[in-house]
Amino acid sequence: MGAAPRWRLEQALASFSERLEGVGSKLILRSGDALSVLQDLLKTTGAQAVHWSRQYTPQGIERDKAIKATLNSQGIQAASFAGFVLFEPWTVETGSGGPYKVFTPFWKKVRERSLNAPLPAPESLPAPESWPQSETLLSWKLGADMNRGAAIIAKHASIGETKALQRLHAFLSDRCADYPTDRDRPDRDGTSRLAEHLTFGEISARSVWHIGREAMAQGNPGAEAFVRQLVWRDFAWHLAFNTPELLHDSWRPAWRDFPWRADNPDAEKWRRGETGEPMVDAAMRELYVTGRMHNRARMLVASYLTKHLMTHWQVGAAWFAECLVDWDPAANAMGWQWAAGCGPDASPYFRVFNPAGQAKKFDPDGRYQDRFLPANDGLEPDAEDFYRAAPRSWGLDPDAPYPSQPIIELKAGRQRALDAYKAFKA
Ligand SMILES: Cc1cc2nc3c(=O)[nH]c(=O)nc-3n(C[C@H](O)[C@H](O)[C@H](O)COP(=O)(O)OP(=O)(O)OC[C@H]3O[C@@H](n4cnc5c(N)ncnc54)[C@H](O)[C@@H]3O)c2cc1C
Repeated sequence: MGAAPRWRLEQALASFSERLEGVGSKLILRSGDALSVLQDLLKTTGAQAVHWSRQYTPQGIERDKAIKATLNSQGIQAASFAGFVLFEPWTVETGSGGPYKVFTPFWKKVRERSLNAPLPAPESLPAPESWPQSETLLSWKLGADMNRGAAIIAKHASIGETKALQRLHAFLSDRCADYPTDRDRPDRDGTSRLAEHLTFGEISARSVWHIGREAMAQGNPGAEAFVRQLVWRDFAWHLAFNTPELLHDSWRPAWRDFPWRADNPDAEKWRRGETGEPMVDAAMRELYVTGRMHNRARMLVASYLTKHLMTHWQVGAAWFAECLVDWDPAANAMGWQWAAGCGPDASPYFRVFNPAGQAKKFDPDGRYQDRFLPANDGLEPDAEDFYRAAPRSWGLDPDAPYPSQPIIELKAGRQRALDAYKAFKA
C-alpha cells in the first residue's frame, strides 16, 4: 500500500477498535506471517474457529487456502465468506460459461439477483478470560510516510462505520436524485463519496446495495444509476479474479509492446499539478490535498498522462496507489486501463480527452479549478493547502505564478498520440 491508503487504514483500524470496545470486545493487532500469527493466537485463546472475508488477488487466495488447509487439518474450523464484493467472481458467468469482459451484460446478469440482507451488528461480544497481547497501532507507524500531508488530508477524511452510513443516507436523501447528471460534475458535490469506506470495509457493498435498492423501490430517480455504478466495483474484481494480469500488466497482450514512455520529467510535472493544463492540474492537486479525485477528473488525467504525455499507465496507476484514500487495486487498474485503451471494455485509444473541452462542459464556471489552483484574487483554502501538503523537496512557491505555457500544446499532443497509435497498429 502507498502512503495515503496506509494512513487511511490506520484511521480505519482505530475506529474499528473503538467500535469493538463499545460491544465489550477488543481488536488484537499482530504482525508477521499470517498462519504463524493465527496459530499463536489460537494457542493462547483456545479459540476453536477462525472466520474471515475472502480476498480475490492471487496472493490473497494462495495465502488463505494454505491457512484454511492447515487449520482444518488441526481440527480448527476455518471458514471464509463473501464479505468484500456483492457477487463472487465465479458466480457470474456468460451464457457460454466464461467470465464477462464487458460491463453492460455483466450488469444485466446481476441487477435482479437477490442477495441476503446484512444482519444487524451484534450488541455485545463475549470476551475471553484474559486478553492476548496486542501490538499497538501507533507502533505500526502506518501514517509515517504522509509527513506534513497527514494534517491536510485529515480535514477531508470521513472515518468509520457510523460516518459511512450517515454519508450513504445523506447522499440518498439530498443528492441521489440528480446523480445521473451530477456524477459527471467535479464542480458539484454530486456523488456518494463512499469509496474509501468500501475500500476499508467500513460499510459493505451489500449494505449499500440493499439500501440503494430500497431507494429505487421508493422511486428515487437516481438510485438505479447509483447501484449500477456500485456494480462496477464488483466488475473490477470479476476481471481481476479471472484475469489477474489486469492488476499489473496491460490486459490486451498486444498493448504490452506499445511504445509508452517510462517515468519521465513530464510525468513528474503531472504528479505535481504543474502541467500548465488547468483542469488536469486542479485534479492532481485535489488528489494531493484530499486523497480523492472526482471520477470524471480521474478519467481525464489518466487520458492526459497516457495519451498527451505518452506515458505508461502503470506510472499513473502507481501514483494513484500512493495518494488515493480509496485505493482499490482492481478498480484502479481497470480505470487506468480503460483510459489508456488497453483494458477490457476500454475507451478506444483514438478517443483522446480534451482537458479544455472537458473543463468547459463539466466545470463551466471554473469553480473546481478555482478551488485547487491559484486564481487572480489569491488562493482558496484548498489551493493554499496544496502548498502546505506538498513535500518541501518539490520546491513549490505559493507566490510563483501558475505555469503560463502547458508542457505540450493540446492539439500537438493529441496528434503525437494518434500517430504513435497508427504506427503501432500498422
Ligand atoms: C483512472 C481511474 C482510477 C480509479 N481508481 C479507483 C480506486 O483506486 N478505487 C476506487 O474505489 N475507485 C477507483 N476508480 C473509480 C471511481 O473513480 C471511484 O470509485 C469514484 O470516483 C469514487 O467516488 P464515489 O465514492 O463518490 O463514487 P460514486 O459515484 O458515489 O459511486 C458509488 C460507488 O461505486 C463504485 N464505483 C463507482 N464508479 C466506479 C468505477 N468506475 N469503477 C469501480 N467502482 C466504481 C465505488 O465503490 C463508489 O464508491 C478509478 C477510476 C479511474 C478512471
